[in-house]
Amino acid sequence: MTEIYVSDAIHPDVLATIGESARVHLGWGDDAVDYARVAPAVDAVILRAETFSRAVIEASPNLRIIARHGVGTDNVDLHAAAEHCVWVTTTPGANSNAVAEYVFALLLSAARKVPQAMERVRGERWSEGKSDLVGFELGGRTIGVLGFGSIGRAVTRIATGFRMRVLAYDPAVEPADIAGAGAGPVELRELLAASDVVTVHVPLLPSTRNLLGADEIARMKPGSILVNTSRGGLVDENALADALRSGRLGGAVLDVLEAEAADMKDPLRHNALPLGTTPALGVTPHVAGQTTEAFRQAGHMAWEAVQAALAD
Ligand code: NAD
Repeated sequence: MTEIYVSDAIHPDVLATIGESARVHLGWGDDAVDYARVAPAVDAVILRAETFSRAVIEASPNLRIIARHGVGTDNVDLHAAAEHCVWVTTTPGANSNAVAEYVFALLLSAARKVPQAMERVRGERWSEGKSDLVGFELGGRTIGVLGFGSIGRAVTRIATGFRMRVLAYDPAVEPADIAGAGAGPVELRELLAASDVVTVHVPLLPSTRNLLGADEIARMKPGSILVNTSRGGLVDENALADALRSGRLGGAVLDVLEAEAADMKDPLRHNALPLGTTPALGVTPHVAGQTTEAFRQAGHMAWEAVQAALAD
């Protein structure tokens, strides 16, 4: 019987499906086994964040595939995997819809001041004047989508439903492809100048670090809102903090920061701009991709990859 090691929790429906046709070793919970103990027999691994080094791969003579549940393979020794003819796969796009919907959760929270309104009720101030809670509507506004990949396209579909005008910039995508997907293909400068909302869906690479630097932020439409659910390093946080403090930008809603949990020196956490008390800034702790559906989809994709590798 096929032997599969699942390193960390995956969706229970997927685990049940795998269990129908394979012997499953779990890397977590009460029945957790050490990988080293089962390595000689394992045919396939479904891997989350754990490290799969050369030594671990070389201790696994039957191993045919390491199916990453998620994207990114920096926790796997790819050279060792290639040398030993072990497939390494990922689950790209499994959480694209989750992130795209979250963009609108953040955006509507900012546009309609949802956190402030909830705070009002929590503070038993229901009957106070509501003029400071007047928001704006998305319908008729322009959203600029930076990066027209899986998430950028999903954002476009949702934005169209809100009757927003969509502009998009992606140097690797044909303008006709962008236009066919319902967005107006434009250059970066035009997107920044014309958009009421700019949303970032670009991978963080050496070439995209500070994609929105001081110059680009200065080109954004006064009063506009920045949404970043991609990676903190794509936006120059000092420049963003300045633009929020001066009131030039209307707001920023971010699911990612440059240093995330690690560092309280992050300029967007600095005392001058305290989290949660500045209406123009909202930050959530990198949760945009977290839905039950995305978790199930990633599990299914990993299991499909395992089946394909073992059938090869
Ligand atoms: P994708 O690879 O499908 O699309 C990325 C697009 O960005 C590509 O079309 C590429 O051509 C484009 N691009 C590259 N450089 C660019 C540049 N300089 N200017 C404009 N466009 C550029 O990726 P995706 O699935 O849409 O994901 C986008 C990013 O979202 C990921 O890289 C990841 O950082 C982030 N993400 C975050 C979460 C979360 O939980 N917050 C979850 C999933 C993904």
